Amino acid sequence: MKYDMAVVGAGPAGTSAAITAASRGLRVLLLDRVRFPRLRPGECLHPGIEPIFRELRVWHAVAEASAVRPEQRRVCWDGGSRLESFGQDAKGGWRAVHITRSVLDAILLQRARDMGVEYRQAREEPLQLLRRSGGDVDGVIIGGAPVQCRYLVDASGSGSWLNRQLGVAPQVCSPKLTAFCGYREGHLEDAQRFYTGVDGWYWFAQVDTHTVNWTQVKYGVHTKPCVPAELSGMPAAGPSVCGFDVTWRRAGTLAGQSYFVTGDAAFVLDPSAGNGVLHAVLSGIFAGECVVAVTEGRENHVSVQALYHEWSSQWFDAGRKALAGVHGQQWSHRIGAA
Ligand SMILES: Cc1cc2nc3c(=O)[nH]c(=O)nc-3n(C[C@H](O)[C@H](O)[C@H](O)COP(=O)(O)OP(=O)(O)OC[C@H]3O[C@@H](n4cnc5c(N)ncnc54)[C@H](O)[C@@H]3O)c2cc1C
Repeated sequence: MKYDMAVVGAGPAGTSAAITAASRGLRVLLLDRVRFPRLRPGECLHPGIEPIFRELRVWHAVAEASAVRPEQRRVCWDGGSRLESFGQDAKGGWRAVHITRSVLDAILLQRARDMGVEYRQAREEPLQLLRRSGGDVDGVIIGGAPVQCRYLVDASGSGSWLNRQLGVAPQVCSPKLTAFCGYREGHLEDAQRFYTGVDGWYWFAQVDTHTVNWTQVKYGVHTKPCVPAELSGMPAAGPSVCGFDVTWRRAGTLAGQSYFVTGDAAFVLDPSAGNGVLHAVLSGIFAGECVVAVTEGRENHVSVQALYHEWSSQWFDAGRKALAGVHGQQWSHRIGAA
């Protein structure tokens, strides 16, 4: 078998899994269907990302590329407004990391390649799942050619490629939620500002010294984004407005005998969770560590599969409980309607 691990998707989850496994000597194939840089939101990273990126040996590059590192964010709620810090320890206040997503993706992908990961952009060759005769996952079929691997890591994002290939339906846990995001040229007084309204919430963030990201989550299905009035005086910048289905959902299967499902492919919570990239990176590392442990004979696949499933489910359950508090009464009546 040519590869110990094949990874579908080269976002933060996929590259983190690939770096983890390759840095321990495993042969890793990393696949993505689009050419990078590609548009993907997720520029405000939770402060907890710093030690993790140090472990992956990308922190130096990330810190250099991050021009905005706030210690707090403004939260506007019920007509009031307050500053909330991200936390602190003996060394001082924790600082979020704001970084252009294309830059972050490029840093992680370069690190994976430096570790010997083979990267293929399979744009013209839609991936299909390769199965053994008993139905177990055996690898991927790229442009008609089978590529076997001992482990497959699905890091394909919210489309959850592997679950779709397996025909396993997601578990949907919220009413419909739609997110839009766009970019404006300008400068904000607060590097992060979050506020709720009757039909959802807004979030503004200073991504770099001259670019502002706005994100809007609306209850229900929406097709027409509406640039928040506060930013309408700023010229449009960067990619045009994009919409995303951010209804809370968990993949029907998170791990199996020869696969792991990571990042947004494992579950989606709306962006008010504020830690989608952190979760993607951690789940990728965890999946990579599981593959390494089984390959080195320290664990068996049944125990790592159970461990991964439990960890991922706990993260999702804790996240959705916390978010139910954020959305609170505004949509309690809609949950009944969902
Ligand atoms: C509007 C919005 C704002 C957000 N803001 C934040 C934020 O401020 N902070 C934060 O931490 N998180 C944020 N998030 C969440 C964050 O974007 C995601 O959690 C994160 O990108 C997940 O990373 P991932 O690696 O799992 O998936 P992705 O980053 O989506 O990467 C998946 C990759 O898989 C590839 N792929 C998909 N299907 C296939 C296929 N069939 N074959 C090959 N390749 C495939 C895709 O091309 C893509 O490159 C936001 C999300 C939204 C919608």
